[in-house]
Amino acid sequence: MISLDEARSRVLNGVGALTPREVDCERASGLVLAHDVVAGENVPPFANTAVDGYAVRSADVASVPCELRVIGTLAAGDGSQQRVGTGEALRIMTGAVMPDGADAVVMVEDTETLADGRVRVRRTVTPGTAVRPIADDVRAGDVVFAAGTVLSPAGAGVLASINARRVAVYPRPRVALLSTGDELVTDGSPLRRGQIRESNLTMLDILLRQNECEVENLGVVVDDESTLERVLLEAARSCDAIVTSGGVSMGDFDVVKAVLSRLAEMQWMQMAIKPAKPFAFGLLTAGQRKIPVFGLPGNPVSSMISFELLARPALRKMMGHTRDLSRPAVRAVTDAPLRRKQDGKVHFMRVFARFGDDGRVHVRDTGPQGSHQLAATAAANALAIVPDGNGVASGESVDVMLLGGALDIVSVAH
Ligand code: AMP
Ligand code: MG
Repeated sequence: MISLDEARSRVLNGVGALTPREVDCERASGLVLAHDVVAGENVPPFANTAVDGYAVRSADVASVPCELRVIGTLAAGDGSQQRVGTGEALRIMTGAVMPDGADAVVMVEDTETLADGRVRVRRTVTPGTAVRPIADDVRAGDVVFAAGTVLSPAGAGVLASINARRVAVYPRPRVALLSTGDELVTDGSPLRRGQIRESNLTMLDILLRQNECEVENLGVVVDDESTLERVLLEAARSCDAIVTSGGVSMGDFDVVKAVLSRLAEMQWMQMAIKPAKPFAFGLLTAGQRKIPVFGLPGNPVSSMISFELLARPALRKMMGHTRDLSRPAVRAVTDAPLRRKQDGKVHFMRVFARFGDDGRVHVRDTGPQGSHQLAATAAANALAIVPDGNGVASGESVDVMLLGGALDIVSVAH
């Protein structure tokens, strides 16, 4: 058996970042930028008002209340040239260009419209009040996003705001997903003796998409070597990676093992962890390309955990991530004992994590921990990393890998 760290470095060494590609900014959120983005335009492109109100010369309203003559109205988008002279005010709407002569805006709430085309101002302003200067947000020539940045939805909005409509990113890997097992039923038909319903394809398809991958779901492939070989070779021609579920252990009908051993440069790993001891990783040659293959075990919990611990970091590396390949881990306190037996393995126990009133992350297990018991895993938002031994007593500390990111942990303190 090898350690998880050893397995992870073998897998990560076998994959590289995909070739960057230009995409529309609307499609770039969640992806890693391949180049610096330099702003070609100022945002905002002109000084404008932050409020609905009256553009004034601040010196005119130094003592209040006072009255000014209203010379017109300016809406956002109105490009007409306007000038505010001494004793004058221009009615102006949020986003409209600041007129020449004016240096501040009085909020409409601080004014009173008078009958004779005049306005009464009740509050003083200083130069710059409620004015958004040119380039207040982004200055032309600035690097707005450095290469390696993971673009957020707001980031995609920024790209639109500077007219960077196309941007170079590491693309979403196209991942072929398949499950093996003659016992698996997907079509809703009554189960015959020995059959079970397939669950991993549903789970892994969603996990892949959540992690910014495109999925080609190939369904269940029967435990037949020539069928599997054909499906795998076809997948390798059109995809960037292949994820398989099942058939990588020591069973007599573990066809994934039999076929991939012939077709690909494979590493069949047994890791000193529980669940998810077996894991297969290799490279399948398709023309000039070598396609990474992640062979996850079939037991649903093992499938999910090995996806999280090994396939996900590798897929992130392919997507150009250099940091945070694995989920973040925090130190947590246990609210109930995390029981286990000594077996030479690190256990990844499914737990529910929440912030306590003490500001610490608290965890308790979510139920039965068998590798076939997906229902308890479904209630977990974290994995407690329980070292070999007899477990962790209540109130003690344990490292916890957060599956949904730190901010998804619910708080009890409202
Ligand atoms: P295997 O890794 O193929 O030896 O399968 C290990 C266990 O997981 C067996 O009990 C299988 O029936 C079960 N299993 C395999 N694939 C799936 C799947 N896609 N969905 C649900 N259970 C599965
Ligand atoms: Mg099987």
